[in-house]
Amino acid sequence: MLERTRPNDLSSFWMPFTANRQFKQAPRMLVAAKDMHYFTDDGRKVLDGTSGLWCVNAGHGRPKITEAIQRQAAEMDYAPPFQMGHPLAFELANRLVDIAPQGMDHVFFTNSGSESVETALKIALAYHRVRGEGSRVRLIGRERGYHGVNFGGTAVGGIVANRKMFGTLVAGVDHLPHTHLPHLNAFSRGEPEHGGEDLANALERLAALHDASTIAAVIVEPVAGSTGVLIPPKGYLKRLREICDKHGILLIFDEVITGYGRLGAPFAAEVFGVTPDIMTTAKGVTNGAVPMGAVFVKKEIYDAFMTGPEHMIEFFHGYTYSAHPLACAAGIATLETYREEGLLTRASGEIGQYWADMLHSLRDLPHVIDIRNIGLVGAIELEPIEGQPTKRAFSAFLKAFENNLTIRTTGDIIAMSPPLIIEKEHIDQIGDTLRSILKSID
Ligand code: PMP
Repeated sequence: MLERTRPNDLSSFWMPFTANRQFKQAPRMLVAAKDMHYFTDDGRKVLDGTSGLWCVNAGHGRPKITEAIQRQAAEMDYAPPFQMGHPLAFELANRLVDIAPQGMDHVFFTNSGSESVETALKIALAYHRVRGEGSRVRLIGRERGYHGVNFGGTAVGGIVANRKMFGTLVAGVDHLPHTHLPHLNAFSRGEPEHGGEDLANALERLAALHDASTIAAVIVEPVAGSTGVLIPPKGYLKRLREICDKHGILLIFDEVITGYGRLGAPFAAEVFGVTPDIMTTAKGVTNGAVPMGAVFVKKEIYDAFMTGPEHMIEFFHGYTYSAHPLACAAGIATLETYREEGLLTRASGEIGQYWADMLHSLRDLPHVIDIRNIGLVGAIELEPIEGQPTKRAFSAFLKAFENNLTIRTTGDIIAMSPPLIIEKEHIDQIGDTLRSILKSID
């Protein structure tokens, strides 16, 4: 294993989504990773309860993936994706379509979830324009949605802290209510029972308010991940689909977290039995090993561009690193790994049940006010401390790391999304660690 020592000077790197001044007083430094674990610079082996950042679905350092990247780097490091192609890009797109929901037949490559979201929003706007419906310019997101950090994604997103530093963002955006109803659905396993249709009907009200003919698209995460694993109640996504169809509004699923097996099927669309018009993905497409995103679109959308007016023969959008050869090589090897090991459906089997049982066994611990799970994702919500900015969940995160486990926190919520290769012994370890931590925090 590589020996890496902590640099003496940590000041230059401006760390993202991190309180730098706190972190740099007491850094947590990861230096290596293998399968279910990270290794720290002080020699500890830390169980990865979050698949890195919801991305390392097949576990770390998988030889097939690392070898494919190494081989590709030696053979052709880079190829321009505009007006030229390379075989791996076409091969990966074909393989992605093979596992996608039926009818999602075309793939546009990006480098991240944020870029996938911007791309999806621009496809939606341009799609209406090529069809001569240029009045459809509004975008609808959802409270507590996370769609990355670029302007469009921040605007359709519904996280107050992420929005308020940046002024007006993008015009013509509105939001649906979030889907979290703790008074009705606390301690749900899988999809909560209550309130789904009513919540989705809020889209009818927005369609009436703005006039449906001005709305281009609605974007939602099938399960909101970053804001604390908010699973929509039964019937919610189906009803959204119906309302979108009724009004000619495109439905975009942001599957950056839920894609590639996280919920027990290749994509959440399958789990919920609802197919969107556009689907954004990233993270698990390359198992986190090389940055990449992939936006899936329905045949009708691609065809509209292919048969549109001559002056719109091109979709004027793309990235220098779209379909980067290293990312494509990593993506193909990742999909092979998922297939060989049955990882895209593993969360729907016994291991998913074991995960759910472990999580819900923590119900009676101090401060726990809700536990929810689906596939290999779960969240534990803790009671807020009245009138104090200190969050118990953040204390839990710090203690978990000291106790060799990574978890994520958002506000008062602990979120977990372990690699899909997880075994029962790891789930037991997570349960034991959380039990002792939750007993020890004030
Ligand atoms: N959409 C969703 C649903 C996400 O969860 C994330 C990242 N957690 C993003 C978009 C943004 O992805 P990235 O950080 O790769 O830009």
